[in-house]
Amino acid sequence: MPKKVGKYSIHRTLGEGTFGKVKKAYSEEDGEWVAIKVLDKEKIQRQNMGSQVKKEISIMKLVRHPHVVQLKEVLASRTKIFIVLELVTGGELFDKIVSEGRFKEKSARFYFQQLCVGTEYCHRQGVCHRDLKPENLLLDDQGNLKISDFGLSALYEQDAEADRQSLLHTTCGTPNYVAPEVLADQGYDGSLADTWSIGVILYVFLAGFLPFDEPTMAALFRKIQKADFTYPSWFTPEVKDLLSKILVVDHTKRYTIRQIMEHPWWRKDGPYADCSD
Ligand code: ADP
Ligand code: MG
Repeated sequence: MPKKVGKYSIHRTLGEGTFGKVKKAYSEEDGEWVAIKVLDKEKIQRQNMGSQVKKEISIMKLVRHPHVVQLKEVLASRTKIFIVLELVTGGELFDKIVSEGRFKEKSARFYFQQLCVGTEYCHRQGVCHRDLKPENLLLDDQGNLKISDFGLSALYEQDAEADRQSLLHTTCGTPNYVAPEVLADQGYDGSLADTWSIGVILYVFLAGFLPFDEPTMAALFRKIQKADFTYPSWFTPEVKDLLSKILVVDHTKRYTIRQIMEHPWWRKDGPYADCSD
């Protein structure tokens, strides 16, 4: 007999997360497979679910989009939190980049458009991700991108300082995708912090390596806080123009997700191409 959590019977492990395992599970009642992220309460150092967190979860349940992994419900026991998610079966985009080395412009644009469309939708619902990186981008059985863990960073910690700590913590000590203002511990706008991460992700898609990558944390922070990076020779002038408007330290001058989606490089082809010209 498989173990039960609420109406779900727990099956095999799908993956290992920062705070616990992700399990495949089945609801007899709904005739549906799901993924359940099991978080150890002690590991995330939270005593109980604050009302702020509860509020965020209820917002996240309203987020429904083809490019965002659907949050179904959150259950809790004395020691664990169970996050019930839509099951996505095509693996991590991260592994695809690793196996292909890097993406050609067409595939990069294909995934980038889906990433932007999903993110823009969530921002409109008032939900930010705050930990966007290729490891959190999953592929479905059709090969389309689904953003995983949207808004979940809010679940880990509540106040801004704790948020910052947990961001640094969940990225396992290498916050390569984190915006400068998040590192600098200033008040920050979650949606513009997401935009920065999206810029780093686009760079990684096309380069096959990180724009900011240093052996020590101090050196990495310095590079990020100066937006000190270079473009590989194969980057086109158009994509360099786009990246130069996203990876901007001053977040008030950084491109918003809407502006990114209006840039000529974004609109060229792919599933969300601009057909008007
Ligand atoms: P964490 O953010 O704590 O690192 P993840 O959400 O990335 O944990 O989950 C760890 C792994 O579990 C992922 O890399 C993926 O392989 C698997 N996984 C997570 N969510 C799902 C899902 N909705 N469907 C299928 N597999 C998933
Ligand atoms: Mg993750």
